[in-house]
Amino acid sequence: MKSIHDMEFLKEKINQLKESGLYKEVVTLEGPNESECIINGKKVINLSSNNYLGFSNHPRLKKAAIEAVEKYGAGAGAVRPIVGNMRIHDELEELLAKFKREEAVLVFQSGFNCNAGTIQAVTEDGDLIISDELNHASIIDGARLSKAKKTTFKHSDMEDLERILKENKNKHNRMLIITDGVFSMDGDIAKLPQIVELAEKYGAMTYVDDAHSSGVLGESGRGTVDYFDLHGRVDFTIGTLSKAIGVVGGYVAGKKVTIDWLINRGRPFLFSTALPPAAVGACIEAINMLMESTEYTDRLWNNAKYFKGKLGKLGFNTGQSETPITPIIIGDESKAKEFSNRLFEKGVFVSPIVFPTVPKGTGRVRCMVTAGHSYEQLDKVVNIMEEVGKEMNII
Ligand code: PMP
Repeated sequence: MKSIHDMEFLKEKINQLKESGLYKEVVTLEGPNESECIINGKKVINLSSNNYLGFSNHPRLKKAAIEAVEKYGAGAGAVRPIVGNMRIHDELEELLAKFKREEAVLVFQSGFNCNAGTIQAVTEDGDLIISDELNHASIIDGARLSKAKKTTFKHSDMEDLERILKENKNKHNRMLIITDGVFSMDGDIAKLPQIVELAEKYGAMTYVDDAHSSGVLGESGRGTVDYFDLHGRVDFTIGTLSKAIGVVGGYVAGKKVTIDWLINRGRPFLFSTALPPAAVGACIEAINMLMESTEYTDRLWNNAKYFKGKLGKLGFNTGQSETPITPIIIGDESKAKEFSNRLFEKGVFVSPIVFPTVPKGTGRVRCMVTAGHSYEQLDKVVNIMEEVGKEMNII
């Protein structure tokens, strides 16, 4: 007899995912995340990581992590409001506040946690959250956890945003506009100056998630607020420490009072143990490296321009990307997967991205060029993409 514990309902759902090309498989890397890595015993050029600057296996970060372990141990012990901050947590937050040119910063265990904790803490019943329709899942979930009303505006459509602001002015206690700084699956940059202007016109607060702009855009990778010179005009700036910074963690930068409130009401901060010292030590080293020199961000942008230039000539649909994120949009999910599989067979690892990460019918592979790639590797990738693209009638 069938039992509920056989999880038949999940098996059925998984079969449906498989039939529609939406089932995900996760590969295993035999070693560090580098521009070249070993997967299933095969050496492949890696275009799937967010390790923009090649920091995740950098000797300086590893040394800083080891030193932090020796000084502070392997774990943080408990949630910070109970066991206290370790000095190294304070140091990272002070450094990030200086880097972001904001009054204060609070670090969470991940960028996801940061959005999940911050949005619900700074909005309440009677407020309205206005979110770009392509915002990251952690923003969507953060908004879901809030008691505020929620609505979305068409992607980067300032007329639609203004329509919503106009219609809702004086109907809510407060309005909060939320946008990704750089859209993670398309690589386009938010129209932050216009968003800030509209927010100021209609008295709304602003919130930008700089996960893919930290370490990438602005002076020394300070993010979109710096890139557009909007210091002091964005209320909440989120960053991750997991992508260009190469480690793990997320943070919110803003006014001291905001950080004070999040220490008291940011649930992941209150109820989940802090980042381990090794991660914090490595993050401090990474931020110091960014402040010391633009060597890595320059190399990232050079590589991105080089790769995009070559790929663009082949006729792939690379969307509206303005940053190193380079999607090749294929549409059909199964075809996107097939493209990725064939590239892998020829030595290029570039993951397929399908619903729910991107809207249905916009399946793609997302090429992430990093500072760690060589021109030789990028040439090889482009040649293989041309070959497979032609085989599959994509170009
Ligand atoms: N925000 C955006 C825009 C992201 O792309 C991501 C990562 N995919 C996150 C937040 C979550 O960051 P983390 O991986 O540090 O949890």
